[in-house]
Amino acid sequence: MENSKLHVAILSSPGMGHLIPVLNLGNRLLSHHNVDITILLPATNSSPAESKVLKPLTDRNQLNIIEIPPVDISSLVNPKTTIVTQLCIMMRAVLPGLRSTIAAMNPRPDVLIVDLFGTEALPVADEFDMPKYVYIASTAWFTALTTYCPVLDEKIEGQYVDQRTPLKIPGCKPVRPEDVVDPMLDRNDEQYREYLRLGIEFRLSDGILLNTWEDLEPISLKALRENGILRAVVKVPVYDIGPLRRPAEPAGSKSRLIEWLDVQPSESVIYISFGSGGTLSAQQINELAWGLEMSQQRFVWVVRPPTEGGADGSFFTVGNGSDGTLDYLPDGFLTRTHSVGLLIPQWGPQVEILSHQSIGGFLSHCGWNSTLESIASGIPMIAWPLYAEQRLNATMLTEELGVAVRPEVLPTKKVVGREEIEKMVRTLMQYTEGKAMRDRVKELKHSAEKALSNEGSSYKSMAVVLEDCQRRVQSHKKE
Ligand code: UDP
Repeated sequence: MENSKLHVAILSSPGMGHLIPVLNLGNRLLSHHNVDITILLPATNSSPAESKVLKPLTDRNQLNIIEIPPVDISSLVNPKTTIVTQLCIMMRAVLPGLRSTIAAMNPRPDVLIVDLFGTEALPVADEFDMPKYVYIASTAWFTALTTYCPVLDEKIEGQYVDQRTPLKIPGCKPVRPEDVVDPMLDRNDEQYREYLRLGIEFRLSDGILLNTWEDLEPISLKALRENGILRAVVKVPVYDIGPLRRPAEPAGSKSRLIEWLDVQPSESVIYISFGSGGTLSAQQINELAWGLEMSQQRFVWVVRPPTEGGADGSFFTVGNGSDGTLDYLPDGFLTRTHSVGLLIPQWGPQVEILSHQSIGGFLSHCGWNSTLESIASGIPMIAWPLYAEQRLNATMLTEELGVAVRPEVLPTKKVVGREEIEKMVRTLMQYTEGKAMRDRVKELKHSAEKALSNEGSSYKSMAVVLEDCQRRVQSHKKE
């Protein structure tokens, strides 16, 4: 049977942290697997900064992006509604728009892939006779926890964070109560019910695609795939197709930042950034600035104005709410550090920065995209988890992979003091412990490259997914 070229539509939930991995998946399918791609994106009031970030990601190739008409969810949320609940409400509200968008597409896509928050769109794919997959731009460990959470919900009484022993996930490393994902922090909150629903709805798909790779997470992947308790819960095939990340932008005219990095010694600069929306309290910014200064190491820091008690960031927009002044930094900080440090307000070209040979460490909130970008550049980390599943990621990076140090207390529970910050920065950048982490992360970088190469595990998994798609498309046509 002659296979025709597949046309895959990928539904992204709003926010840079979701859109970036979807674009990475689209780019990968387009450039390595000869597939036509349409990205379906719910329209939001994205800020000018967001368009600036998106443009180079989409210009370079033929990714077709269709915006789904905006929806007004203001009457369904209140100031206390969490980001996760808001995302779920929004993805529910766009379903009629998604349906009419697909109906109007010519040619119609053959396959629908949705991201973590798009599982309610899986039945829409059925209406159009399309095979359907879920793309979880995170770890196999997170996926195991999410699919198993409905079972934990029946087994465990009281709040997860109050448990005295780690939560057992069959076949996987147990999850410490303090490491649970944000929606599991309070079982009475609406976002917990939404999270339980996601874990159940994955099974409505024809398969789950994960932004991870075999050699990184053999244990969790095995538990998700091989016969056993977890497999019985997951039911559908699980494919490791990562690590997908954006390539560095081709150098145009050199920015001041890159010119500055060019003249720094190799692996001498630590990069600090908290993802697309992470912010710190005023007190924590003060301690971080002092800690950096005391470490006497070179740094590039993406700075954002402080927010009190709000580390969970704005997923929908970036670059908002700042007049660009840096008066929240300690007095004289800029003058005292100007020869060793560079500050970038709001948003920096992260992949270019991490790919630069003068970068030697990354203080990161451990969002999965940032983590993969760091590994792909062979950069060890200071793990500073803030929200979502980042505590799980931080634990994996420090305890399993040995490529990161982390503060003794969770940064969301207690302010991390300047002395501890100084020590972590020096450990990463100066001491033999940091050197050992750098060596290990470089091994991971090579294993990631191998997984994506034409004979690699992730390349092959993606090929299997596409064969499965072709088979399903052909059998739908026959019916
Ligand atoms: N990012 C960037 N510049 C910044 C901050 C973030 O390019 O100043 C990108 C980063 O490279 C990554 C994404 O935004 O691809 C953030 O995703 P991640 O999963 O790390 O964190 P989230 O934003 O979802 O918390």
